[in-house]
Amino acid sequence: MAVALIVAAGRGERLGSGRPKALVTLAGRPMLAWSVATLRAVREIEQIVVALPPDALDAAPPGTVAVAGGEARSQSVREALRASGGGDPVVVHDAARPLAPAALFERALAQLRASGVDAVIAAAPVSDTIKEVGADRRTVERTLDRARLWAVQTPQVFRRAALERALLGFDEELVSAATDDAWLIERAGGTVEVVESGPRNLKITTPTDLRLAELLLAEGV
Ligand code: C5P
Repeated sequence: MAVALIVAAGRGERLGSGRPKALVTLAGRPMLAWSVATLRAVREIEQIVVALPPDALDAAPPGTVAVAGGEARSQSVREALRASGGGDPVVVHDAARPLAPAALFERALAQLRASGVDAVIAAAPVSDTIKEVGADRRTVERTLDRARLWAVQTPQVFRRAALERALLGFDEELVSAATDDAWLIERAGGTVEVVESGPRNLKITTPTDLRLAELLLAEGV
């Protein structure tokens, strides 16, 4: 059976609410509660571990296991992985994506089961043209081939052994630099596939994102 790790230990300063982003109210309940409710609806998941800021451990929803997160996101994932009871596969999800639908988790888990890869990650094909700009932050150095670019999100589902190797096997500096756990799998020579997500899986960073999420929830999108 699978275990889910929700990382909710970020301070979320760009939201400007003065409390951890995952605990900001979204359509009447804390942002974190939306992901927990969705994960409870995914039959394969038998345990939910939540990484929270050390001074907010009491905010873990009933029935979840609370653990103190780290300074960087990947460190929070690692602490949650250590606190989990050994479920396999491991689903990693950001509390900052409260609208990820249960069907997306189920599709990612099914793809992992059907393929021999180490990880399956939610992603969306990019719609903007992406250019690489120099260190001066203005000179365009090259234009990337948009047809092959995907913006990476969560959920990300991993075979437990691969995630343990990636998070427990690298040095501290590399783990703290990783904004995405699948990158650590890639570095270790592991195989990763994408599963296409829909428009609903937005990440909440700014107050505008929060309003947009409330609109989507109100419209049942
Ligand atoms: O800051 P950002 O929105 O990129 O964070 C993505 C997710 O990682 C959020 O759900 C946030 O709570 C979590 N996070 C964490 N521990 C950190 C930093 C971020 O759990 N040290």
